[in-house]
Amino acid sequence: MAAPVRISFLGGLGEIGRNCAAIEVDGRIMLIDCGLMFPEADHAGVDIILPDFTYLRENAHRIEGVVATHGHEDHIGALSFLLEEMPLQVIGSPLTIGMAKGRIGERGVLDQATFIEVSDNDRIQVGPFDMEFFPVTHSVPHGFATAFHTPQGVILHSGDFKLDMTPVDQRLTDLAGLGHLAKDDGIRLFLCDSTNAESAGFSESETSIGQSLQDLFRAREGRRLIIACFASHIHRVQQIADAAIATGRTIATMGRSMNSNVALARQMGLLHIPDAKLRAIEDVDDVPDGDLCVISTGSQGEPLSALARMANGENRWLSVHEGDCVILSSHPIPGNESSVSRVIDGLIRRGAEVVHSGIARVHATGHAKAEELRVMHSIVQPEWFIPVHGEYRHMAEHARLAAGMGQPADKIMVCSDGDSVILTDEGLRRGEEIPADYIYIAGSIGPLDHSVLIDRRILGQEGFVGIIVPISIVGASAELLREPEIVSRGWVEGDEGDLLRKEATLAVREAVEQALADGKRGRDEIERIARRAVGRFINRRTKLRPMVVPVVLGAHESGK
Ligand SMILES: [Zn+2]
Ligand SMILES: [Zn+2]
Repeated sequence: MAAPVRISFLGGLGEIGRNCAAIEVDGRIMLIDCGLMFPEADHAGVDIILPDFTYLRENAHRIEGVVATHGHEDHIGALSFLLEEMPLQVIGSPLTIGMAKGRIGERGVLDQATFIEVSDNDRIQVGPFDMEFFPVTHSVPHGFATAFHTPQGVILHSGDFKLDMTPVDQRLTDLAGLGHLAKDDGIRLFLCDSTNAESAGFSESETSIGQSLQDLFRAREGRRLIIACFASHIHRVQQIADAAIATGRTIATMGRSMNSNVALARQMGLLHIPDAKLRAIEDVDDVPDGDLCVISTGSQGEPLSALARMANGENRWLSVHEGDCVILSSHPIPGNESSVSRVIDGLIRRGAEVVHSGIARVHATGHAKAEELRVMHSIVQPEWFIPVHGEYRHMAEHARLAAGMGQPADKIMVCSDGDSVILTDEGLRRGEEIPADYIYIAGSIGPLDHSVLIDRRILGQEGFVGIIVPISIVGASAELLREPEIVSRGWVEGDEGDLLRKEATLAVREAVEQALADGKRGRDEIERIARRAVGRFINRRTKLRPMVVPVVLGAHESGK
Protein backbone atom coordinates (compact mmCIF):
# COMPACT_ATOMS: atom_id res chain seq x y z
CA MET A 1 0.00 0.00 0.00
CA ALA A 2 1.42 3.34 -1.05
CA ALA A 3 1.56 6.22 1.41
CA PRO A 4 -1.37 8.67 1.22
CA VAL A 5 -0.92 12.18 -0.12
CA ARG A 6 -2.82 15.04 1.44
CA ILE A 7 -3.68 18.40 -0.14
CA SER A 8 -5.06 21.29 1.90
CA PHE A 9 -6.50 24.42 0.32
CA LEU A 10 -5.59 27.60 2.17
CA GLY A 11 -7.03 29.99 -0.39
CA GLY A 12 -8.17 30.62 -3.95
CA LEU A 13 -11.10 28.20 -3.85
CA GLY A 14 -14.04 30.55 -3.55
CA GLU A 15 -12.38 33.78 -4.62
CA ILE A 16 -9.99 35.09 -7.24
CA GLY A 17 -6.94 35.70 -5.09
CA ARG A 18 -4.73 34.48 -2.24
CA ASN A 19 -4.02 31.21 -3.99
CA CYS A 20 -2.27 28.79 -1.70
CA ALA A 21 -2.38 25.01 -1.30
CA ALA A 22 -0.27 22.59 0.72
CA ILE A 23 0.62 19.18 -0.63
CA GLU A 24 1.96 16.61 1.83
CA VAL A 25 4.13 13.62 0.94
CA ASP A 26 5.94 11.47 3.54
CA GLY A 27 5.14 13.97 6.28
CA ARG A 28 6.72 16.86 4.42
CA ILE A 29 4.84 19.86 2.99
CA MET A 30 5.27 21.70 -0.29
CA LEU A 31 3.15 24.77 -0.93
CA ILE A 32 1.72 25.55 -4.32
CA ASP A 33 1.74 29.37 -4.52
CA CYS A 34 1.34 31.87 -1.71
CA GLY A 35 -0.65 34.79 -3.01
CA LEU A 36 -2.61 37.76 -1.77
CA MET A 37 -6.03 39.10 -2.58
CA PHE A 38 -7.08 42.68 -3.15
CA PRO A 39 -9.89 43.95 -0.93
CA GLU A 40 -13.36 44.80 -2.17
CA ALA A 41 -15.47 47.84 -1.34
CA ASP A 42 -16.86 46.37 1.89
CA HIS A 43 -13.35 45.68 3.25
CA ALA A 44 -13.11 49.27 4.50
CA GLY A 45 -9.53 50.47 4.80
CA VAL A 46 -7.95 47.06 4.15
CA ASP A 47 -4.86 47.09 1.92
CA ILE A 48 -4.57 43.40 1.19
CA ILE A 49 -5.97 40.04 2.29
CA LEU A 50 -3.71 37.08 3.03
CA PRO A 51 -4.32 33.37 3.41
CA ASP A 52 -4.65 32.14 6.98
CA PHE A 53 -1.19 30.79 7.88
CA THR A 54 -2.32 28.99 11.07
CA TYR A 55 -1.86 25.51 9.60
CA LEU A 56 1.55 26.42 8.18
CA ARG A 57 2.64 27.98 11.47
CA GLU A 58 1.70 24.80 13.34
CA ASN A 59 3.58 22.65 10.81
CA ALA A 60 6.45 25.01 10.01
CA HIS A 61 9.08 22.35 10.78
CA ARG A 62 7.63 20.11 8.05
CA ILE A 63 7.56 22.71 5.24
CA GLU A 64 10.09 22.24 2.42
CA GLY A 65 9.18 25.27 0.37
CA VAL A 66 6.86 26.88 -2.15
CA VAL A 67 6.35 26.28 -5.84
CA ALA A 68 5.62 29.72 -7.34
CA THR A 69 3.72 28.82 -10.51
CA HIS A 70 4.00 32.33 -11.99
CA GLY A 71 4.67 35.95 -11.07
CA HIS A 72 1.17 37.29 -10.34
CA GLU A 73 0.40 38.87 -6.99
CA ASP A 74 -2.43 36.41 -6.34
CA HIS A 75 0.26 33.67 -6.42
CA ILE A 76 3.42 35.23 -4.96
CA GLY A 77 2.15 38.33 -3.13
CA ALA A 78 1.90 36.73 0.32
CA LEU A 79 5.33 35.05 0.21
CA SER A 80 7.04 37.92 2.01
CA PHE A 81 4.52 37.68 4.88
CA LEU A 82 5.09 33.95 5.27
CA LEU A 83 8.86 34.47 5.06
CA GLU A 84 8.60 36.81 8.04
CA GLU A 85 7.52 33.76 10.03
CA MET A 86 9.68 30.99 8.56
CA PRO A 87 12.51 30.40 6.11
CA LEU A 88 11.42 28.86 2.79
CA GLN A 89 12.80 27.53 -0.45
CA VAL A 90 11.08 29.28 -3.34
CA ILE A 91 10.93 27.32 -6.58
CA GLY A 92 9.99 28.95 -9.88
CA SER A 93 11.08 30.19 -13.29
CA PRO A 94 13.79 32.87 -13.29
CA LEU A 95 11.21 35.58 -14.13
CA THR A 96 8.81 34.44 -11.42
CA ILE A 97 11.65 34.43 -8.93
CA GLY A 98 12.85 37.84 -10.16
CA MET A 99 9.38 39.25 -9.55
CA ALA A 100 9.03 37.53 -6.18
CA LYS A 101 12.46 38.77 -5.07
CA GLY A 102 11.38 42.35 -5.70
CA ARG A 103 8.41 41.99 -3.36
CA ILE A 104 10.31 39.98 -0.74
CA GLY A 105 13.13 42.54 -0.79
CA GLU A 106 10.66 45.35 -0.12
CA ARG A 107 9.72 43.70 3.16
CA GLY A 108 13.34 43.06 4.02
CA VAL A 109 13.13 39.26 4.32
CA LEU A 110 15.33 38.18 1.40
CA ASP A 111 17.71 36.36 3.74
CA GLN A 112 14.84 34.07 4.83
CA ALA A 113 14.43 32.74 1.28
CA THR A 114 16.47 30.29 -0.78
CA PHE A 115 15.66 30.42 -4.47
CA ILE A 116 15.62 27.44 -6.81
CA GLU A 117 15.31 28.45 -10.46
CA VAL A 118 13.80 25.89 -12.82
CA SER A 119 13.49 25.96 -16.60
CA ASP A 120 10.79 24.62 -18.91
CA ASN A 121 10.38 20.85 -18.57
CA ASP A 122 12.90 20.55 -15.73
CA ARG A 123 12.22 17.73 -13.28
CA ILE A 124 13.67 18.26 -9.81
CA GLN A 125 13.60 16.61 -6.42
CA VAL A 126 13.19 18.69 -3.26
CA GLY A 127 12.88 16.52 -0.16
CA PRO A 128 10.33 13.83 -1.03
CA PHE A 129 8.84 16.02 -3.79
CA ASP A 130 9.52 14.91 -7.34
CA MET A 131 8.29 17.80 -9.47
CA GLU A 132 8.14 18.47 -13.19
CA PHE A 133 7.44 21.88 -14.73
CA PHE A 134 5.50 22.29 -17.97
CA PRO A 135 5.31 25.59 -19.86
CA VAL A 136 1.88 27.23 -19.99
CA THR A 137 0.76 30.46 -21.67
CA HIS A 138 -0.76 33.11 -19.42
CA SER A 139 -0.81 36.88 -18.96
CA VAL A 140 2.66 36.86 -17.46
CA PRO A 141 5.54 35.04 -19.18
CA HIS A 142 7.11 31.81 -17.96
CA GLY A 143 4.27 30.29 -16.01
CA PHE A 144 4.19 26.60 -15.21
CA ALA A 145 1.82 23.73 -14.82
CA THR A 146 3.38 21.51 -12.15
CA ALA A 147 3.31 17.73 -12.05
CA PHE A 148 3.97 16.17 -8.66
CA HIS A 149 5.13 12.57 -9.05
CA THR A 150 3.90 11.14 -5.74
CA PRO A 151 3.52 7.68 -4.19
CA GLN A 152 -0.15 8.04 -5.21
CA GLY A 153 0.62 8.80 -8.83
CA VAL A 154 0.84 12.07 -10.69
CA ILE A 155 -0.96 15.09 -9.30
CA LEU A 156 -1.10 17.78 -11.97
CA HIS A 157 -1.69 21.43 -11.06
CA SER A 158 -2.51 23.50 -14.17
CA GLY A 159 -1.35 26.83 -12.79
CA ASP A 160 -3.06 29.83 -14.39
CA PHE A 161 -3.16 29.15 -18.11
CA LYS A 162 -4.77 29.68 -21.46
CA LEU A 163 -4.13 27.88 -24.72
CA ASP A 164 -2.59 30.66 -26.80
CA MET A 165 -1.54 29.09 -30.10
CA THR A 166 0.34 32.24 -31.17
CA PRO A 167 1.91 33.59 -27.98
CA VAL A 168 4.13 36.68 -28.22
CA ASP A 169 7.25 34.71 -27.20
CA GLN A 170 6.24 31.56 -29.13
CA ARG A 171 6.46 29.55 -25.94
CA LEU A 172 3.40 27.34 -26.22
CA THR A 173 1.50 25.53 -23.51
CA ASP A 174 3.21 22.14 -23.59
CA LEU A 175 0.20 20.04 -24.55
CA ALA A 176 2.48 17.41 -26.07
CA GLY A 177 4.38 17.04 -22.80
CA LEU A 178 1.18 16.86 -20.77
CA GLY A 179 -0.19 14.30 -23.22
CA HIS A 180 2.90 12.18 -22.78
CA LEU A 181 2.59 12.35 -19.03
CA ALA A 182 -1.09 11.42 -19.23
CA LYS A 183 -0.41 8.48 -21.53
CA ASP A 184 2.72 7.17 -19.83
CA ASP A 185 2.04 7.70 -16.12
CA GLY A 186 -1.62 8.63 -16.12
CA ILE A 187 -2.90 11.61 -14.12
CA ARG A 188 -4.31 10.50 -10.79
CA LEU A 189 -5.59 13.94 -9.76
CA PHE A 190 -5.98 17.14 -11.76
CA LEU A 191 -6.27 20.58 -10.17
CA CYS A 192 -7.27 23.06 -12.85
CA ASP A 193 -7.80 26.84 -13.21
CA SER A 194 -11.53 27.66 -13.28
CA THR A 195 -11.48 31.47 -13.73
CA ASN A 196 -13.13 31.55 -17.16
CA ALA A 197 -15.16 28.33 -17.00
CA GLU A 198 -18.33 30.37 -17.51
CA SER A 199 -17.09 31.97 -20.74
CA ALA A 200 -17.91 30.05 -23.90
CA GLY A 201 -15.48 29.43 -26.71
CA PHE A 202 -11.73 30.08 -26.91
CA SER A 203 -9.86 33.07 -25.57
CA GLU A 204 -8.26 35.42 -28.06
CA SER A 205 -4.56 35.14 -28.69
CA GLU A 206 -2.37 37.79 -27.09
CA THR A 207 -0.85 38.61 -30.49
CA SER A 208 -4.26 39.61 -31.88
CA ILE A 209 -4.22 42.48 -29.38
CA GLY A 210 -0.90 43.73 -30.81
CA GLN A 211 -2.46 44.26 -34.23
CA SER A 212 -5.47 45.98 -32.76
CA LEU A 213 -3.22 48.32 -30.76
CA GLN A 214 -1.25 49.27 -33.86
CA ASP A 215 -4.49 50.20 -35.65
CA LEU A 216 -5.57 52.31 -32.67
CA PHE A 217 -2.18 54.04 -32.52
CA ARG A 218 -2.20 54.81 -36.25
CA ALA A 219 -5.65 56.32 -36.06
CA ARG A 220 -4.42 58.74 -33.37
CA GLU A 221 -1.50 60.29 -35.17
CA GLY A 222 -0.28 63.54 -33.64
CA ARG A 223 -1.95 62.86 -30.29
CA ARG A 224 -0.35 61.83 -27.04
CA LEU A 225 -0.99 58.22 -26.02
CA ILE A 226 -1.09 56.95 -22.46
CA ILE A 227 -1.74 53.27 -22.10
CA ALA A 228 -2.21 51.34 -18.88
CA CYS A 229 -1.84 47.61 -18.34
CA PHE A 230 -0.70 45.20 -15.64
CA ALA A 231 2.98 45.80 -14.96
CA SER A 232 3.57 42.03 -14.93
CA HIS A 233 2.07 41.60 -18.40
CA ILE A 234 5.43 41.75 -20.16
CA HIS A 235 3.99 40.53 -23.46
CA ARG A 236 1.37 43.28 -23.47
CA VAL A 237 4.10 45.82 -22.72
CA GLN A 238 6.10 44.36 -25.60
CA GLN A 239 3.20 44.76 -27.99
CA ILE A 240 2.48 48.30 -26.82
CA ALA A 241 6.16 49.14 -27.29
CA ASP A 242 6.16 47.55 -30.75
CA ALA A 243 3.06 49.51 -31.77
CA ALA A 244 4.59 52.71 -30.41
CA ILE A 245 7.87 52.20 -32.26
CA ALA A 246 6.06 51.24 -35.48
CA THR A 247 4.17 54.53 -35.32
CA GLY A 248 7.27 56.60 -34.59
CA ARG A 249 6.81 57.17 -30.90
CA THR A 250 9.19 57.38 -27.97
CA ILE A 251 8.26 55.28 -24.92
CA ALA A 252 8.25 56.31 -21.28
CA THR A 253 7.15 54.06 -18.43
CA MET A 254 5.35 55.37 -15.38
CA GLY A 255 4.59 53.82 -12.00
CA ARG A 256 6.92 51.98 -9.66
CA SER A 257 5.99 48.40 -10.58
CA MET A 258 5.98 49.20 -14.32
CA ASN A 259 9.46 50.70 -14.08
CA SER A 260 10.84 47.77 -12.11
CA ASN A 261 9.21 45.02 -14.20
CA VAL A 262 10.27 46.61 -17.47
CA ALA A 263 13.83 46.89 -16.17
CA LEU A 264 13.79 43.26 -14.95
CA ALA A 265 12.32 41.84 -18.15
CA ARG A 266 14.72 43.81 -20.38
CA GLN A 267 17.65 42.66 -18.30
CA MET A 268 16.47 39.03 -18.64
CA GLY A 269 16.07 39.40 -22.38
CA LEU A 270 12.30 38.86 -22.22
CA LEU A 271 11.37 42.37 -23.31
CA HIS A 272 12.94 44.08 -26.30
CA ILE A 273 12.86 47.86 -26.35
CA PRO A 274 15.94 49.62 -27.79
CA ASP A 275 17.55 52.13 -25.41
CA ALA A 276 17.14 54.85 -28.04
CA LYS A 277 13.35 54.46 -27.90
CA LEU A 278 13.08 54.75 -24.12
CA ARG A 279 12.94 57.99 -22.16
CA ALA A 280 12.65 58.56 -18.43
CA ILE A 281 9.27 60.06 -17.57
CA GLU A 282 11.10 63.05 -16.05
CA ASP A 283 12.53 63.90 -19.47
CA VAL A 284 9.51 63.83 -21.77
CA ASP A 285 8.61 67.52 -21.62
CA ASP A 286 10.31 68.26 -24.93
CA VAL A 287 8.77 65.25 -26.73
CA PRO A 288 5.88 66.46 -28.97
CA ASP A 289 2.52 64.91 -28.03
CA GLY A 290 2.30 62.90 -31.23
CA ASP A 291 5.72 61.34 -30.65
CA LEU A 292 5.06 60.03 -27.15
CA CYS A 293 3.61 56.83 -25.74
CA VAL A 294 3.49 56.49 -21.96
CA ILE A 295 3.03 52.99 -20.53
CA SER A 296 1.54 53.27 -17.07
CA THR A 297 0.32 51.30 -14.08
CA GLY A 298 -3.15 51.80 -12.66
CA SER A 299 -5.27 49.79 -15.09
CA GLN A 300 -7.28 48.51 -12.11
CA GLY A 301 -8.12 52.01 -10.88
CA GLU A 302 -5.84 51.67 -7.83
CA PRO A 303 -6.28 55.03 -6.06
CA LEU A 304 -2.57 55.72 -5.58
CA SER A 305 -1.48 54.62 -9.05
CA ALA A 306 -0.01 56.86 -11.73
CA LEU A 307 -3.22 56.69 -13.77
CA ALA A 308 -5.58 57.52 -10.90
CA ARG A 309 -3.39 60.49 -10.01
CA MET A 310 -3.59 61.59 -13.63
CA ALA A 311 -7.38 61.37 -13.48
CA ASN A 312 -7.32 63.60 -10.38
CA GLY A 313 -4.85 66.05 -11.88
CA GLU A 314 -2.30 65.09 -9.24
CA ASN A 315 0.28 63.26 -11.30
CA ARG A 316 3.65 64.93 -10.87
CA TRP A 317 4.89 64.01 -14.36
CA LEU A 318 1.90 64.35 -16.65
CA SER A 319 -1.29 66.32 -16.73
CA VAL A 320 -3.92 65.02 -19.08
CA HIS A 321 -5.31 67.51 -21.56
CA GLU A 322 -7.65 67.81 -24.52
CA GLY A 323 -6.54 65.56 -27.36
CA ASP A 324 -4.83 62.92 -25.20
CA CYS A 325 -5.89 59.33 -25.70
CA VAL A 326 -5.79 57.02 -22.69
CA ILE A 327 -6.09 53.31 -23.38
CA LEU A 328 -6.91 50.84 -20.60
CA SER A 329 -5.42 47.64 -21.95
CA SER A 330 -6.98 45.50 -19.27
CA HIS A 331 -10.21 44.25 -17.80
CA PRO A 332 -11.21 45.14 -14.24
CA ILE A 333 -10.82 42.20 -11.86
CA PRO A 334 -13.94 41.60 -9.74
CA GLY A 335 -14.25 44.28 -7.07
CA ASN A 336 -12.35 46.93 -9.04
CA GLU A 337 -15.11 47.91 -11.48
CA SER A 338 -16.21 51.05 -9.67
CA SER A 339 -12.70 52.41 -9.10
CA VAL A 340 -11.85 51.81 -12.77
CA SER A 341 -15.04 53.59 -13.73
CA ARG A 342 -14.12 56.57 -11.52
CA VAL A 343 -10.70 56.83 -13.16
CA ILE A 344 -12.27 56.73 -16.65
CA ASP A 345 -14.66 59.47 -15.59
CA GLY A 346 -11.86 61.68 -14.27
CA LEU A 347 -9.83 61.28 -17.45
CA ILE A 348 -12.77 62.14 -19.71
CA ARG A 349 -13.56 65.16 -17.53
CA ARG A 350 -10.04 66.39 -18.27
CA GLY A 351 -10.61 66.15 -21.98
CA ALA A 352 -9.02 62.79 -22.77
CA GLU A 353 -10.47 60.15 -25.03
CA VAL A 354 -10.59 56.87 -23.09
CA VAL A 355 -10.46 53.54 -24.91
CA HIS A 356 -11.15 50.42 -22.82
CA SER A 357 -11.97 46.77 -23.29
CA GLY A 358 -15.68 47.55 -23.25
CA ILE A 359 -15.44 49.45 -26.53
CA ALA A 360 -12.35 48.16 -28.36
CA ARG A 361 -10.19 45.05 -28.65
CA VAL A 362 -7.45 46.20 -26.31
CA HIS A 363 -7.34 43.24 -23.95
CA ALA A 364 -7.28 39.44 -24.07
CA THR A 365 -7.80 37.30 -21.00
CA GLY A 366 -4.99 35.17 -19.60
CA HIS A 367 -7.29 32.36 -18.50
CA ALA A 368 -8.64 29.42 -20.51
CA LYS A 369 -12.28 29.68 -21.57
CA ALA A 370 -14.62 26.69 -21.71
CA GLU A 371 -13.36 25.19 -24.98
CA GLU A 372 -9.74 25.47 -23.88
CA LEU A 373 -10.63 23.76 -20.61
CA ARG A 374 -12.25 20.97 -22.66
CA VAL A 375 -9.05 20.59 -24.71
CA MET A 376 -7.07 20.39 -21.48
CA HIS A 377 -9.37 17.79 -19.92
CA SER A 378 -9.33 15.72 -23.13
CA ILE A 379 -5.54 15.59 -22.97
CA VAL A 380 -5.07 15.15 -19.24
CA GLN A 381 -7.92 12.65 -18.72
CA PRO A 382 -7.49 12.52 -14.97
CA GLU A 383 -8.88 9.85 -12.70
CA TRP A 384 -9.92 12.53 -10.18
CA PHE A 385 -10.62 16.21 -10.74
CA ILE A 386 -10.79 19.23 -8.41
CA PRO A 387 -11.54 22.63 -9.95
CA VAL A 388 -9.41 25.38 -8.38
CA HIS A 389 -8.72 29.11 -8.82
CA GLY A 390 -12.14 30.72 -8.96
CA GLU A 391 -15.21 31.92 -7.21
CA TYR A 392 -17.50 29.07 -6.23
CA ARG A 393 -19.67 29.59 -9.31
CA HIS A 394 -16.63 29.24 -11.60
CA MET A 395 -15.56 26.01 -9.92
CA ALA A 396 -19.10 24.62 -10.01
CA GLU A 397 -19.32 25.40 -13.73
CA HIS A 398 -15.91 23.81 -14.31
CA ALA A 399 -17.16 20.68 -12.53
CA ARG A 400 -20.22 20.61 -14.81
CA LEU A 401 -17.96 21.04 -17.83
CA ALA A 402 -15.82 18.06 -16.82
CA ALA A 403 -18.90 15.95 -16.12
CA GLY A 404 -20.20 16.89 -19.56
CA MET A 405 -17.07 15.36 -21.03
CA GLY A 406 -17.65 12.04 -19.31
CA GLN A 407 -15.68 12.55 -16.09
CA PRO A 408 -17.70 10.45 -13.59
CA ALA A 409 -19.48 12.75 -11.15
CA ASP A 410 -18.16 10.77 -8.16
CA LYS A 411 -14.61 11.47 -9.34
CA ILE A 412 -15.11 15.25 -9.24
CA MET A 413 -14.76 17.07 -5.95
CA VAL A 414 -15.71 20.74 -5.62
CA CYS A 415 -13.79 22.07 -2.62
CA SER A 416 -13.61 25.38 -0.75
CA ASP A 417 -10.96 27.24 1.21
CA GLY A 418 -10.13 25.25 4.33
CA ASP A 419 -10.94 21.87 2.82
CA SER A 420 -8.37 19.14 2.61
CA VAL A 421 -8.40 15.94 0.57
CA ILE A 422 -6.48 12.70 0.98
CA LEU A 423 -5.44 10.58 -1.96
CA THR A 424 -4.99 6.90 -1.11
CA ASP A 425 -4.94 3.59 -2.96
CA GLU A 426 -8.72 3.54 -2.58
CA GLY A 427 -9.23 6.97 -4.11
CA LEU A 428 -9.79 10.53 -3.03
CA ARG A 429 -11.60 11.40 0.17
CA ARG A 430 -12.12 14.51 2.23
CA GLY A 431 -9.81 15.10 5.19
CA GLU A 432 -9.92 17.34 8.22
CA GLU A 433 -10.64 21.03 7.67
CA ILE A 434 -7.95 23.62 8.34
CA PRO A 435 -8.32 27.30 9.33
CA ALA A 436 -8.81 29.46 6.24
CA ASP A 437 -10.01 32.85 7.45
CA TYR A 438 -9.39 36.04 5.54
CA ILE A 439 -6.41 37.79 7.14
CA TYR A 440 -6.74 41.54 6.67
CA ILE A 441 -3.65 43.69 6.45
CA ALA A 442 -3.90 47.48 6.73
CA GLY A 443 -1.12 50.01 7.03
CA SER A 444 1.90 48.70 8.86
CA ILE A 445 0.10 47.11 11.80
CA GLY A 446 -0.41 43.37 12.11
CA PRO A 447 -3.52 41.57 10.90
CA LEU A 448 -6.79 43.39 11.58
CA ASP A 449 -9.34 41.57 13.67
CA HIS A 450 -12.56 40.89 11.80
CA SER A 451 -14.43 42.92 14.44
CA VAL A 452 -12.55 46.03 13.25
CA LEU A 453 -14.10 45.59 9.82
CA ILE A 454 -17.55 45.12 11.30
CA ASP A 455 -17.07 48.33 13.32
CA ARG A 456 -15.92 50.19 10.20
CA ARG A 457 -18.95 48.99 8.29
CA ILE A 458 -21.28 50.24 11.05
CA LEU A 459 -19.42 53.57 11.24
CA GLY A 460 -19.61 53.93 7.46
CA GLN A 461 -23.28 53.08 7.14
CA GLU A 462 -24.92 54.25 10.37
CA GLY A 463 -22.61 56.80 12.00
CA PHE A 464 -21.34 57.28 15.54
CA VAL A 465 -22.91 58.42 18.81
CA GLY A 466 -20.80 58.96 21.93
CA ILE A 467 -22.20 59.41 25.45
CA ILE A 468 -20.22 60.89 28.30
CA VAL A 469 -21.71 60.09 31.72
CA PRO A 470 -19.86 61.67 34.68
CA ILE A 471 -20.91 60.20 38.01
CA SER A 472 -19.73 60.66 41.54
CA ILE A 473 -19.53 57.89 44.10
CA VAL A 474 -18.96 58.95 47.70
CA GLY A 475 -19.29 56.22 50.30
CA ALA A 476 -22.63 54.52 49.80
CA SER A 477 -24.17 57.31 47.75
CA ALA A 478 -23.85 57.78 44.03
CA GLU A 479 -25.21 60.42 41.68
CA LEU A 480 -24.84 61.95 38.25
CA LEU A 481 -22.23 64.69 38.54
CA ARG A 482 -23.84 66.66 35.74
CA GLU A 483 -26.04 66.14 32.69
CA PRO A 484 -24.74 63.37 30.37
CA GLU A 485 -23.27 64.69 27.14
CA ILE A 486 -23.94 63.26 23.70
CA VAL A 487 -21.73 63.78 20.66
CA SER A 488 -22.37 62.31 17.24
CA ARG A 489 -20.79 62.08 13.80
CA GLY A 490 -22.44 60.95 10.60
CA TRP A 491 -25.74 60.34 12.36
CA VAL A 492 -28.36 63.12 12.37
CA GLU A 493 -27.08 66.67 12.26
CA GLY A 494 -28.64 70.17 12.24
CA ASP A 495 -31.68 71.19 14.30
CA GLU A 496 -33.15 67.74 14.16
CA GLY A 497 -29.89 66.34 15.48
CA ASP A 498 -29.82 68.84 18.36
CA LEU A 499 -33.31 67.83 19.37
CA LEU A 500 -32.58 64.12 19.17
CA ARG A 501 -29.37 64.49 21.16
CA LYS A 502 -31.24 66.38 23.85
CA GLU A 503 -33.92 63.71 24.07
CA ALA A 504 -31.28 60.99 24.08
CA THR A 505 -29.61 62.76 26.99
CA LEU A 506 -32.81 62.45 28.97
CA ALA A 507 -33.06 58.76 28.16
CA VAL A 508 -29.52 58.17 29.42
CA ARG A 509 -30.06 60.22 32.53
CA GLU A 510 -33.15 58.31 33.46
CA ALA A 511 -31.50 54.93 32.89
CA VAL A 512 -28.29 55.80 34.74
CA GLU A 513 -30.11 57.34 37.71
CA GLN A 514 -32.21 54.21 37.98
CA ALA A 515 -29.06 52.07 37.82
CA LEU A 516 -27.37 54.08 40.56
CA ALA A 517 -30.50 53.88 42.70
CA ASP A 518 -30.43 50.10 42.20
CA GLY A 519 -26.94 50.08 43.66
CA LYS A 520 -24.97 49.57 40.43
CA ARG A 521 -21.45 50.96 40.78
CA GLY A 522 -19.31 49.18 38.16
CA ARG A 523 -18.22 51.02 35.05
CA ASP A 524 -18.84 48.20 32.59
CA GLU A 525 -22.33 47.66 33.88
CA ILE A 526 -23.32 51.33 33.84
CA GLU A 527 -21.86 51.72 30.36
CA ARG A 528 -23.92 48.78 29.18
CA ILE A 529 -27.07 50.34 30.64
CA ALA A 530 -26.31 53.72 29.05
CA ARG A 531 -25.62 52.12 25.67
CA ARG A 532 -28.84 50.15 25.75
CA ALA A 533 -30.90 53.20 26.72
CA VAL A 534 -29.47 55.34 23.92
CA GLY A 535 -29.52 52.52 21.37
CA ARG A 536 -33.18 51.83 22.03
CA PHE A 537 -34.08 55.50 21.87
CA ILE A 538 -32.22 56.02 18.59
CA ASN A 539 -33.65 52.95 16.97
CA ARG A 540 -37.18 53.90 17.99
CA ARG A 541 -36.87 57.47 16.75
CA THR A 542 -34.66 57.12 13.66
CA LYS A 543 -34.66 53.44 12.68
CA LEU A 544 -30.85 53.70 12.61
CA ARG A 545 -28.26 51.65 14.46
CA PRO A 546 -25.21 53.88 14.80
CA MET A 547 -22.23 52.78 16.82
CA VAL A 548 -22.99 53.88 20.38
CA VAL A 549 -19.94 54.34 22.62
CA PRO A 550 -20.59 55.24 26.28
CA VAL A 551 -17.86 56.58 28.51
CA VAL A 552 -18.74 56.51 32.23
CA LEU A 553 -16.42 58.61 34.38
CA GLY A 554 -16.07 58.14 38.12
CA ALA A 555 -17.48 54.62 38.43
CA HIS A 556 -15.71 51.67 39.99
CA GLU A 557 -13.21 49.84 37.78
CA SER A 558 -15.03 46.52 37.85
CA GLY A 559 -18.62 45.61 38.64
CA LYS A 560 -18.84 45.84 42.43
ZN1 LIG B 1 -4.22 33.70 -10.52
ZN1 LIG C 1 -2.14 34.56 -13.00
